[in-house]
Amino acid sequence: MTVRDLTILGCSSQQPTRTRNHGAYLVRWNEEGLLFDPGEGTQRQFIFANVAPTCVTRIFVSHFHGDHCLGLGSMLMRLNLDKVTHPIHCYFPASGQIYFDRLRHGTIYHQVIQIVEHPIREEGIVEEDEHFRIEARFLEHGVENIGWRITEKDSRKFDKVKLDAAGVKGPNVRLLERNGEIVIEGKKIRLEDVSHVRKGDVLAVAIDTLPCQEAIDLARGAKLFLCESTYLETHRDLAEKHHHMTAKQAAEIARAAGAEKLVLTHFSARYQDVEDFAKEARLIFPNTLAAEDLKVFPF
Ligand SMILES: [Zn+2]
Ligand SMILES: [Zn+2]
Repeated sequence: MTVRDLTILGCSSQQPTRTRNHGAYLVRWNEEGLLFDPGEGTQRQFIFANVAPTCVTRIFVSHFHGDHCLGLGSMLMRLNLDKVTHPIHCYFPASGQIYFDRLRHGTIYHQVIQIVEHPIREEGIVEEDEHFRIEARFLEHGVENIGWRITEKDSRKFDKVKLDAAGVKGPNVRLLERNGEIVIEGKKIRLEDVSHVRKGDVLAVAIDTLPCQEAIDLARGAKLFLCESTYLETHRDLAEKHHHMTAKQAAEIARAAGAEKLVLTHFSARYQDVEDFAKEARLIFPNTLAAEDLKVFPF
């Protein structure tokens, strides 16, 4: 069974609190580690989460407000120290290249790892490889800010009973997968007779935005939707003023998008109990959970 979970490394907004680190989110998915918005202190949060930073394969920076990127430089240096042998892909808004460069080269270090930069200029599919399709949309945050939709590649699942009945085994299974059909003892067996295609799951991330159509599009049918809710409805005026959302508004987006599960995060330091966010959202979208530092959400 491959790992498939979201680990909250931090869930605070602009300012950390005693219980909430600056935001940072690790998604472990099919041998990859997707790290979203590494805020300050992300490296140390990996230790508390009991996860090796070397699992990170891709880093996503939604925008260059400090709470979403101050941990980028130290994470890259840490991966460098660990001498990871796989490339580290970094996705970020192209308009923030100057900030990316400063964070990446902020201190003395001798780079030995491969860092692949993906500055994003346009919305749409920004990467499609054998593991994932990565789509970006610009959100409404007053500065250029990207929301993400990650779609796992479809995979073929074999039915063991049907394989046995057809007498397909060992290397013949791979042969059948490659050629689409195989002849066993004079009988032709087609791939679709003994297997089916499992549609890849979708994960969506929208952090730091006003409610917008783009966020709904990103979260369409998502198995897990990680969304900001900086404020509660009692402070809706502040949410609008600072280009953020309330828990209720995040829930409305999840509902409109037909998402399966909503995880709320990016909480303002003014609030103590994050469960209040989940309660507010559940009135609109029942399958809502509130992030907490070091909490793990399987999906
Ligand atoms: Zn923020
Ligand atoms: Zn921001």
